[in-house]
Amino acid sequence: MSKTIQVRHQNRFNRTAGLRNTPEVVRHSEYPCRLNFYLRPPPAEISVEDFERFALDRLQVLKTIENATLRNKKNEDFRREMERVSSEHLRMRPGHTKEAMEDRRKDHVSHFILRLAYCRSEDLRSWFLRQECALFRHRFELESRKEKETFLKTLDINWKVVSQEDKMNMKAELENCAFWTAKAAGGQNVQDFVENETYFEVDFERVPDLISRRSVLLRRGKAYVPMTEQISLVMDEFKARLSKALEATAKALPQMDEDERLKPVLLNVEKQYTGKDYGDNTNITGKVKASEVNALSQHFPLCMKNLHQSLTKDKHLKHGGRMQYGLFLKGIGLSVEEALVFWRKAFSNHTDDKFQKEYAYNIRHNYGLEGRRVNYAPYSCMKIIQSNQPSTGDHHGCPFRHFSSQSLEANLYKNKVAAPQVNEIVRLAKDRHYQLACTRYFEVTHPDMQSGQIGTVEHPNQYFDMSQGKEPESEAMKTD
Ligand code: SF4
Repeated sequence: MSKTIQVRHQNRFNRTAGLRNTPEVVRHSEYPCRLNFYLRPPPAEISVEDFERFALDRLQVLKTIENATLRNKKNEDFRREMERVSSEHLRMRPGHTKEAMEDRRKDHVSHFILRLAYCRSEDLRSWFLRQECALFRHRFELESRKEKETFLKTLDINWKVVSQEDKMNMKAELENCAFWTAKAAGGQNVQDFVENETYFEVDFERVPDLISRRSVLLRRGKAYVPMTEQISLVMDEFKARLSKALEATAKALPQMDEDERLKPVLLNVEKQYTGKDYGDNTNITGKVKASEVNALSQHFPLCMKNLHQSLTKDKHLKHGGRMQYGLFLKGIGLSVEEALVFWRKAFSNHTDDKFQKEYAYNIRHNYGLEGRRVNYAPYSCMKIIQSNQPSTGDHHGCPFRHFSSQSLEANLYKNKVAAPQVNEIVRLAKDRHYQLACTRYFEVTHPDMQSGQIGTVEHPNQYFDMSQGKEPESEAMKTD
């Protein structure tokens, strides 16, 4: 079997993923700049090994961005972190050497591979879009003015340049808005700054951040943006184009005949994002007894605490809840025998006969002892967040994703989280940073752990392990 992905018979894939069968030569003209809007598919074929390596390398960079954002790292701290991860996984050497071209090709190809892996749901798309925008912004800010100009010339962007005459007609108003911009641009005199600066006229809704900083003049629905603030315009273009491209890729995906060599690689890439799958529990099975679950629930993430509390209160859980919670308990070390004891006790309102007929089979099924005899893995956060949306009467799902803001807020207060942190966590959840919200919840309820020690929460069993590693703040976590 060929070691390279030539996808000769995969025209639809080619259109979607952008992998073509041209010789693997990176021409200088392909990449005149380090910056890239990724408008065209990558031009070269690629080996299966590189396909996976490139994707995982880019993923490391995107995950570092996500973590740095969560830790509120800005300016120098953010740059240092990016420099470290980029030099290890995604170098972007300057100039036009062979090595620089190879860096740009890898950057280009890896972006398109992750586009394929992360176009599959709205949550994945939104995660990918956020991290890619942050990566692009970081790179754009580091480039010299000359490089930026060269790059912008390669794009077909229709920003209307304000004529000198129009500029002079609104000079006084422009000067009123230019104080901080002129200062940031080397402390120039405001009059000189306005006179020498190029201004663009755009619809005001394209530059909300500049408007909130009062850095642009607003007139009849138009914003007048100085060249020095062009990052906002560039980011707006980048985001809009990538967002559209992701939607298009998602639409094309179902009709695409995926190369059978790519499928496992893409799945592996997605798994890297969702983290360890906790499917192999041979080492821990039997470590937890049914009678210990209640005490251990202080270490559970909110999703599992919610299920535990609902089960205790209602003496019942619907199927989705039993699956999510049952597999989680299996992942923390409950053997099938102990699981049967635990669920039998929990369903105390049911007769033995009903329990055996309706529930025991499913419990054994989860442990691979019935049906297709598959050893099912506990659900990851991504799976819980994305699939099987809970409806009325269900208790499964992720509180940060599926609770209303009011319920989440109430739940956080119930768990002794202080008001400023409650607001912060609810805001993260509202902005669809569900796992970051959960990570923040972990941090505020485990204040003795250094934030640098904690990665983003990707799996409820990872949360449990992290919480077990260090005692949580005793009172804050006691809910039973
Ligand atoms: S982010 Fe994951 S661990 Fe946290 S509550 Fe949601 S599903 Fe559970």
